[in-house]
Amino acid sequence: MDYRFTPEEEAFRQEVRTFLSAELPESWDYDPFELHDEQWEFARDFTKKLGAKRWLAPAWPEEYGGLGLDFMKQVVMAEEMAYRRAPNTSLIGVTYAGPTVIVYGSDEQKKQFLPGITSGEIVWCQGYSEPDAGSDLASLQMTAVKDGDDYVLNGTKTWSSNAHKANWCFLLARTDTEAPKHKGISYLITPMDAPGITVNPLVNMADEHNFNEIVFENVRVPAKGLVGEENRGWYVGMTTLDFERSNISSAAAHRRSFEQLLGYVRENGKRKEERGDGDGVRPRLAEIAIEIEAGRYLSYRVASMQAREQIPNYESSAAKVYHSELGQRLARTGLQVMGLYGQLREGSKYARLRGRFARTYVTSAGATIAAGTSEIQRSIIATRGLGLPRG
Ligand SMILES: Cc1cc2nc3c(=O)[nH]c(=O)nc-3n(C[C@H](O)[C@H](O)[C@H](O)COP(=O)(O)OP(=O)(O)OC[C@H]3O[C@@H](n4cnc5c(N)ncnc54)[C@H](O)[C@@H]3O)c2cc1C
Repeated sequence: MDYRFTPEEEAFRQEVRTFLSAELPESWDYDPFELHDEQWEFARDFTKKLGAKRWLAPAWPEEYGGLGLDFMKQVVMAEEMAYRRAPNTSLIGVTYAGPTVIVYGSDEQKKQFLPGITSGEIVWCQGYSEPDAGSDLASLQMTAVKDGDDYVLNGTKTWSSNAHKANWCFLLARTDTEAPKHKGISYLITPMDAPGITVNPLVNMADEHNFNEIVFENVRVPAKGLVGEENRGWYVGMTTLDFERSNISSAAAHRRSFEQLLGYVRENGKRKEERGDGDGVRPRLAEIAIEIEAGRYLSYRVASMQAREQIPNYESSAAKVYHSELGQRLARTGLQVMGLYGQLREGSKYARLRGRFARTYVTSAGATIAAGTSEIQRSIIATRGLGLPRG
């Protein structure tokens, strides 16, 4: 089996690299959900530049703002973007809202929602979790009652990333309260400026505001935002999660962090006090280098399925659990290697890498929870991947 990219794909990679070097400030090193207001503005403009080149979803059909390129070129694009930590305010749209609309949406919905994703104009958020529905998502309580051409929404969503910036939300709501719990759920796309929506900030352990609570009080939304059939939204929602968990670009983002850490160790190699426990550093770094490489191939497995227009399922779960846990090991190693200096962000001559590993040590905790916890991913791998009975 030949895992190499084709010469044409490698040429595209060079083109992307040249663009990123020209457009991103040398010092740009922010994670996708680390953007404060001033970085967000830059991120919006940058995303629109990508949109103007039709590079946000280059594999999508031209009529929806893509270039109709081979899917592996989109993988190349995602890798290069992740490696440079290039901002993309269309990320949720490109990676999971849009692909779901492509699979389940009507022609009218494709025309309505996809161009805004590929132009970089529209920001999306996801309304799945509720105060009493996380891993057991099908127990969600939010209701959507059909009334003429609208649904009327009531309920509370929580942990919704980017809801405070979003124009559209795709959500799951109960349209039949009598049916068995998986069978009375519908998938709706909702404008975030509809009257009756309140977005309340939730601040994470790193003191950053990314996710939110969204309260819906008698919110009227057009019924034409229903994706798929009424009461069959569970299956649509699970497809979105399959795309969300695919993690095609995580290995590239980890590789960048790892190279930054290696650079630090090379520079400070003789200063043992900055390397944590000294002797254990080399094998730990070697271990992580191997893990990143292995993770890359898990991602390529998912990507190759998407390239064949298949929807990856337990394969995405495997990539998700692997990359999220590797991200935690990488952050822990970085913090141990850099010692107390690793906590300095700026304003000191000893500050290095903007405190990256101290920050990711905290934020990576959420990575094994978001999009379904590691326990849930392992259950999916066990039942759907290995064919084991439900425990
Ligand atoms: C950074 C971040 C971003 C997020 N963004 C979004 C978003 O944009 N939109 C959105 O809707 N949600 C979002 N979430 C919410 C996320 O999807 C939920 O937190 C997650 O599904 C877990 O649900 P919960 O928090 O209710 O935990 P619970 O479901 O209460 O789980 C608690 C613990 O019990 C374990 N557990 C539960 N059930 C089982 C089981 N059957 N078998 C084994 N163990 C089990 C879990 O693994 C976990 O360790 C985000 C979360 C984080 C951390």
